[in-house]
Amino acid sequence: MAKYALVTGASRGIGRAVALKLSFVGLPVVINYKSNRKAAEQVAEEIRLQGGTAELLPFDVADKLAVDEALDQWEQRHPDDYVAVLVNNAGIRADNVMFMMADEQWHNVVNTSLDGFFYITRRLLKHMMPRKRGGRIINVASLSGVKGMPGQTNYSAAKAGLIGATKALAQEVAARDVTVNAVAPGFIETDMTRDLPQEELKKMVPAQRFGKPEEVAALVAFLASDEAAYITGEVININGGLYT
Ligand code: NAP
Repeated sequence: MAKYALVTGASRGIGRAVALKLSFVGLPVVINYKSNRKAAEQVAEEIRLQGGTAELLPFDVADKLAVDEALDQWEQRHPDDYVAVLVNNAGIRADNVMFMMADEQWHNVVNTSLDGFFYITRRLLKHMMPRKRGGRIINVASLSGVKGMPGQTNYSAAKAGLIGATKALAQEVAARDVTVNAVAPGFIETDMTRDLPQEELKKMVPAQRFGKPEEVAALVAFLASDEAAYITGEVININGGLYT
């Protein structure tokens, strides 16, 4: 039985770096994305070039039917394998001050983070828990969910919700050798932060720079490793000292 890693939102940014890193440490990787097929194919190609195994599995994480259909198909193609490492990374921003926030801005952001986490994790847990096969679930939260960020009530609520779910689920499944942790990045250089005034914001960060996706990926890979078996229910900040 082969153990796979599934990384949601792995076509770009942090998810892409996590997929590459998990492949580098020896896991075959399933690359999820929503619509950017070209970018996802490039990630798969990079993984193959470094000697790893990658396959694409596009679906919208917030769409229950799409999640079930894609995972059904994957399970049919892999009757003897299971996803042992799940990285719930897919996420979006739609910033606005609360009094002007549209229903869509609220629901799209909350559903992508929270419904996505719920539909995928519930489904894959069934394969991690039997006979203490074990598993690793790593949720990509945010400083915004720990501290709260003005202009991001939707995003802060989604990420704080993800942190609460991480802590609760960790206690439910610890006896089955499944760990559940969250990472909470500060400002990381990706498409998501491209429109922000980086020079201004850097001054607020004690490390005086944005983080790199590869730095978050290294932390995720540690939490996914055998060495991290006794760490569960934690939220690990990775933010250059921005908030402690
Ligand atoms: P990004 O560069 O914008 O990439 C987002 C990724 O998520 C893409 O692969 C995108 O796929 C995918 N995605 C978006 N909605 C999806 C959906 N409904 N279903 C499936 N995939 C979906 O973002 P990033 O900066 O790497 O962020 C990754 C995670 O880190 C997010 O959860 C974000 O909230 C969190 N985070 C980021 C920062 C930061 O500073 N960058 C800080 C804290 C936390 P397509 O390519 O197909 O669109």
